[in-house]
Order: sequence, then C-alpha cells, then structure tokens
Amino acid sequence: MAKDTIDHLLSGNAEFVAGEFQEHADYYQSIARRQTPKVLWIGCSDSRVSEDLLTGSKPGTIFVHRNVANIVAFNDVNIASILEFGLVHLKIEDIIVCGHTGCGGIAAMEDGVHEHYIADWLCIAAPAKENADRAAREQKLSREEKLELLTKENVLLQIKRLHSLAIIKNMRAVGALPRIHGWLYRVETGAVEVLVDGRAGHERPAP
Ligand SMILES: [Zn+2]
Repeated sequence: MAKDTIDHLLSGNAEFVAGEFQEHADYYQSIARRQTPKVLWIGCSDSRVSEDLLTGSKPGTIFVHRNVANIVAFNDVNIASILEFGLVHLKIEDIIVCGHTGCGGIAAMEDGVHEHYIADWLCIAAPAKENADRAAREQKLSREEKLELLTKENVLLQIKRLHSLAIIKNMRAVGALPRIHGWLYRVETGAVEVLVDGRAGHERPAP
C-alpha cells in the first residue's frame, strides 16, 4: 500500500528520533527538562513559513503564536495568554512579527473575502488596508506591489498594537524589553527582510 501523508509524517518522526535527536541527545534532554526561549514569534499559519527552519533554530529557541495573517487581536485570549506566559514566565526578550509574501490572508483582505470567520478575522487588520489603498492610489501600484505593501503595513499595524497593550507598555515603562521586530519572509527566496529592527528604537519606518 502506498504511503499516505500521515505515514510520511510518522516515518519522518522516526528519522528525527534516530538522527537529529540522537545526535544532539544532550541538548534535547536539557530542553526536555525546561524550555528557555528568549524569542516570541508571531507569524502566519501558512505551511511555508516555518520559523525554526527559516531561522536555523533548534526546538527550544522560539516560543510561537501563529494565526491567519499574523494578527495581534485585542480580544483574543489566545494571544493574550501567550504574551503573558511568554513575557512574565519565560522572560521573552524579543518579539518578532513576521509577515510573508504570497500570504493568502493578505490576498483575501485585498480581494474582500466573504467567508464568515475569515472575513471577520481579517477585519481586525482593516487599518493596514486603508493605508495600502491610499498609497496604491497615489503611487499607482500594481497588484503585486500593493499586496507586498499591504503585507508590510499589516506587520507595522500589529507592532503598533503590541506597543499599545498594557502588559508591554508597563514593561517598557521600566526597561527596554521586550524589543519588538517586524520581518517580511519571502517565500520565493527564503530570505528575511527586516522591516523594523527593535534594537534600533521604535520609529515607524516607511514600508
Ligand atoms: Zn499568510
């Protein structure tokens, strides 16, 4: 019988256990006792954007929250609990909001998708679309250019939201952490473009 997707995943795990895990057994035993990630990744659910792989990081390095179009929602107890656990208990020092090219959520935002839950979710990023609409009109951008601009505007909007959350405002009032970074991952090349370098302050760059 031909292997199906689940068989491939399970045989992949067997290879992982026999290879990577065995080769770095001490490391995996140390993180089995306790995780100490210093980075929180807020990324898209897209299957092509694998935060560990694209940053060359081992398990245990990055604490992760992913959703459609890497959105920071005010009324989302999911991201709220991740921020609280990450910042208060794990002492996360850097938060990376990472958008990506070819994002289906961004295209749906641009095209005005009508499916109930997806449309409602993407509404949260409406201010990014308003900015991109204005720039696209003024600069006569092509669809591809506009989608990239919208992707960048969306990252900047989510960073602005993070900075407005009380948990982060209160921490930053007494120190420099957490630093908040904005990245764009290009699925065509595998490369990251830094939109906002949280180490360099928090001025809003031109997308
Ligand atoms: Zn996406």
